[in-house]
Amino acid sequence: MDRRHFIQNMGLATMASALPGAQLIDSIFLQNNYQMKALRGDLGIFTERGGTILWKLSDDGIAVVDTQFKAQAEHLIEEIKKKSDRQIDALINTHHHGDHSAGNIAFKGLVKNHFAHENCVKNMKATAEKNNSLDKVLLPSAGFGKKFVYKLAGEKIAMRYFGAAHTNGDAIIHFEDANIAHMGDLLFNRRVPYIDKNNGADIANWQNVMDDAYKWFDKDTQLVYGHSGDGYEITGTREDLKAFKNYLGRLLEYVDKGVKAGKTKEDLAKTELIPGADQWKGNQRRAVNAAYIEIVEEK
Ligand SMILES: [Zn+2]
Ligand SMILES: [Zn+2]
Repeated sequence: MDRRHFIQNMGLATMASALPGAQLIDSIFLQNNYQMKALRGDLGIFTERGGTILWKLSDDGIAVVDTQFKAQAEHLIEEIKKKSDRQIDALINTHHHGDHSAGNIAFKGLVKNHFAHENCVKNMKATAEKNNSLDKVLLPSAGFGKKFVYKLAGEKIAMRYFGAAHTNGDAIIHFEDANIAHMGDLLFNRRVPYIDKNNGADIANWQNVMDDAYKWFDKDTQLVYGHSGDGYEITGTREDLKAFKNYLGRLLEYVDKGVKAGKTKEDLAKTELIPGADQWKGNQRRAVNAAYIEIVEEK
């Protein structure tokens, strides 16, 4: 299928799923519940179940960032094969969590390069060893440090690590020419974040990461997020980084003030809202527990 037909079909699929009562069209054009959505140029996103996947599909280069789960990765691979017989040039993981990397295994034998931050590789390997499932995972073959640049088909793909945040191994993957960046789980768009203290998360430093990323991007950078709250987009602009930084700061402040006022962890965890960050609605228990570990237990 040529590029134009590919894009047209994607558009049709997107349209079909948006129309009310379009189940028949859905069943013809959307046999699966996934969505391929073009963003800019030859970049776009795949969504089905798990953290959003970013892809670049062109005749002279294919890259995939994150892989959801095995069945979802297989759906994406089918779509890629409709477009090109080319071997996938680069698979990149933003971090090690299963909703972003369990689908790696579907790419076994199909990719030339597989990159992730070195801590992501370590965490992925340690998790697989713990679950006795090393044979079921595909580990990145190359772990990078603070910055790594990979050039592909007229695109400079910069992978950067600004320190511990959601885990101790989250990288931002910036396609600098298209000016689109995958944030992985470094930004939960108006959704209460998962903060993985068992894998080195650091809420205080996460705020610095938001500042560093803000400076790195410009006002035209399109950001792709792993997850978003109901009714919110999984893409956005760097202004979202400021809003999320505010949530993180308010979360720490809420727990710190509460502890000083004699409240228990259980009392604090009951809230549905962090004062001063009311766009991040919902059960705050896990986030409050993580902040409590950072403020009380790690001190
Ligand atoms: Zn995730
Ligand atoms: Zn995650």
